[in-house]
Amino acid sequence: LVSRENHPDRSTVHVGGVPIGPDTVTLIAGPCAVETPQQTLEAAQMAKAAGATLLRGGAYKPRTSPYAFQGLGEAGLRILADVREETGLPIVTEVVDAHDVDLVASYADMLQVGTRNAQNFALLQAVGAAGKPVMLKRGMNATIEEWLMAAEYIAQRGNLDIVLCERGIRTFETATRNTLDVSAVPVAQRLSHLPVIIDPSHSGGRRDLVLPLTRAAIAVGADGVIIDVHPHPEQALCDGPQALVDGDLRELAEIMRTFPQLM
Ligand code: PEP
Repeated sequence: LVSRENHPDRSTVHVGGVPIGPDTVTLIAGPCAVETPQQTLEAAQMAKAAGATLLRGGAYKPRTSPYAFQGLGEAGLRILADVREETGLPIVTEVVDAHDVDLVASYADMLQVGTRNAQNFALLQAVGAAGKPVMLKRGMNATIEEWLMAAEYIAQRGNLDIVLCERGIRTFETATRNTLDVSAVPVAQRLSHLPVIIDPSHSGGRRDLVLPLTRAAIAVGADGVIIDVHPHPEQALCDGPQALVDGDLRELAEIMRTFPQLM
């Protein structure tokens, strides 16, 4: 279903009216985690001012340590809904448990499946049946074939509104959190008709890499990027070191506007 064999034209997925696909490079931005109404609103306003058309933000956070901030849960979803009301930006938010899919789908414009759940087949089937577009991150240990098969689980439930997100894979390299596999973008786009975007924030885990990796994303033809922003990264409860502040995000958006014309 997700293969290009029977579907030669590349697809565009619409999220709350915003297109992600071959004719555009979509900027999705927002906080890694929803922490407070004020922080989420400020991050969303930064995103919107820079030109982002979708708001990201996690209410359910899949953290490596059980002692780390796990997200606000439904209270976080309510904050996202309020911020959508205020800014008009449709929401992309993660669901980590199949039992929460209906609840998260009742607030979200797009459901995100994260790298740690990328082969959680029960979750993939549940999001496939939820009637909302899905962003499927690549498992950090998944081959491209495994990633596409994970997308197939969603598609098999009748949902072809799937966006693939390359977010770095685990390699021997320790200088970055994960290694962004830029080649995965053209490879996945050749094998599948689904749009493919890049997450330069979670792959590198470092603010100073977000702009260079965004250039790389544009250069290889990614259909969009998803970026962490925070009004006060030093106070962030999750992944502060990779969050962009206002000026950085504007610079990134400017690169997205001008860089493609240089190539
Ligand atoms: C996220 O986008 O909030 C996230 C946790 O990403 P990943 O699943 O890629 O680590």
